Amino acid sequence: MPEGDSVYRATATLHRALAGQTLLRSDFRVPSLATVDLSGYAVAEVVPRGKHLLMRLQPPLTPDPDFSQPPLTLHSHLLMEGRWDLYRPGERFRRPANTVRVLLAFADLTAVGFDIAQVKLVPTAEEADLVGHLGPDLLGANWDAVQAAANFRDHPHRGIGEALLDQRLMAGVGNIYRSEILFLTRLHPLTAVGDIVQLEKVIEMAHRLLVVNKDRGRRVTTGLARTREPYWVYGRTGKPCLRCGAKVEVLRIAAQDSELQRDCFFCPHCQSAAN
Ligand SMILES: [Zn+2]
Repeated sequence: MPEGDSVYRATATLHRALAGQTLLRSDFRVPSLATVDLSGYAVAEVVPRGKHLLMRLQPPLTPDPDFSQPPLTLHSHLLMEGRWDLYRPGERFRRPANTVRVLLAFADLTAVGFDIAQVKLVPTAEEADLVGHLGPDLLGANWDAVQAAANFRDHPHRGIGEALLDQRLMAGVGNIYRSEILFLTRLHPLTAVGDIVQLEKVIEMAHRLLVVNKDRGRRVTTGLARTREPYWVYGRTGKPCLRCGAKVEVLRIAAQDSELQRDCFFCPHCQSAAN
């Protein structure tokens, strides 16, 4: 699952390359949008909202009586495998052509969305219907730590390891950061939210990790960009904890409203109890 910071970077790259550019051709390879033609629309901006990527599109600036369409938002959620790439004319795709879901052609660049699980197109005025359910965005301009804490406190019986991935409470944390945030705040993943006195510290840690990594090419939570160990516990099952030497363990935790179980890594010694 892409974390909020990787969506932020993907979004920033698309925004820099495409803002102000006019679409010459669009090709949607998803059934619900197969007949859509966005040619003539211009990219106003590309913005992240949690792990969602929003490309806002404007009708041509020159008023054309035959072109009275509303501003549109192309929404994509990258989920596990999705990504957007940019190509110069004639450049070979770096991913299999049969995984293309969206192709947007501009004068000297083509944006290609591969393996994107969710692609939707809505009038920009109705954008909130798609992302309005999201909690405060860790990398958003209106980040609200107090609201995020209040959202978590509304769910005192849920485990913090599960709740951190609930984008309705706070948007942007994926599986890697979940493990790292819990390690850095010394919380066992099954600790009930209501038992965490220093909930604000957990939220502050999430915010700090995403902010320091948002413009970096390589995600690091250990603070040493050159280290061979970018993560404290993530993906390190059976290896010694970098702090205490105990063996890192993994728990499979299901999300509240889904069957999907995801690995949460932790050190049983450093993260033994609620605090
Ligand atoms: Zn440890």
